[in-house]
Amino acid sequence: VGGASASSAERGLRVCIRKRPIFPHELEQGEFDVISCLATGRVVVHDARMHPDMTNMYMNHYDFAFDEALGDAADNAAVYAVTARDLVFSALQGQNSTVMMYGQTGSGKTFTMRSIYSQAAEELFSGAAGRQVTTYFVELLGDNCFDMLNQGMSCQLGTAADGSVHPNPCVEVPVQDASELLALIDLATKLRATAATGVHDQSSRSHAICRIFVEGDGAGDGEAEGSITLVDLAGSEHRIDNAEHNADRRKEGAKINSSLAALKDCIRATAAGAKFVNFRQNRLTQLLRGCFVGGGRHKTVVIATVSPSSKDTEHSLNTLRHACIMD
Ligand code: ADP
Ligand code: MG
Repeated sequence: VGGASASSAERGLRVCIRKRPIFPHELEQGEFDVISCLATGRVVVHDARMHPDMTNMYMNHYDFAFDEALGDAADNAAVYAVTARDLVFSALQGQNSTVMMYGQTGSGKTFTMRSIYSQAAEELFSGAAGRQVTTYFVELLGDNCFDMLNQGMSCQLGTAADGSVHPNPCVEVPVQDASELLALIDLATKLRATAATGVHDQSSRSHAICRIFVEGDGAGDGEAEGSITLVDLAGSEHRIDNAEHNADRRKEGAKINSSLAALKDCIRATAAGAKFVNFRQNRLTQLLRGCFVGGGRHKTVVIATVSPSSKDTEHSLNTLRHACIMD
């Protein structure tokens, strides 16, 4: 049983699960729902399989605990309310925060992220009257970083005097209201589907990082600029696959794997209170540096998405195990 420990919560990390509904076509193909999300953040996986000798079914139950477990009954508004909302208010108060979507391709990362983009944009602007808001949107694909608000131009990463890491050159666009922000995000995500390689739907193989900065409100302690970073990670199912014949694909799979592994390492070390977290190991952890330094002032929410379908049991278990390790 995984533990949603008080200490990781104190350090500003929360790990939440969202299960998508099972689709009619999955039911038609004989698949069934194997995941229960219970109150108090428990997730139970009912793993029923035929024994290899085909004479017996066996049943295993796997039990996990998280900060929140959001099942079919939780709609987008409910998910936002217990995940990103608090971080939007933190950004308005001059703090930095990150929401990241982690999970298998097809489990609902982008669906959930899209609803968070729009709810966060609305609430951010209703609290940011008269303040400057800017945004950048980059995609990490293999070792490369692309500026999705500048036609997919390639960027390097640079470190500012205060240690923060920024893509460079990268346009940071001022935005006036929620609809302007959402139009930019829409543009970026459309480009994301084909950028860099021209191959359709790279989205499962790349990490999309949208960072929104809010000028301080100038009152009292409100001098500091705040930010919220929204991360739609590459599909967690990519593995180092020796059976993959295409060498580029194989390399890419290994890169995705190592960036997600580095991310898990850094989150786990941060949650455990490590004094030094090696975020320099790759570009993803460099860009998300704020999550790992700064002694808990940075708030991080990981939303791990799972498919309920019996055919995805192995992937869902992997997602839940990895998400547990982070918490
Ligand atoms: P991912 O980004 O993880 O690959 P998507 O967000 O694209 O997955 O979701 C896969 C499919 O499932 C999409 O058709 C999406 O609309 C649908 N879907 C995902 N989550 C939900 C949900 N909570 N409710 C209804 N449909 C969902
Ligand atoms: Mg997606």
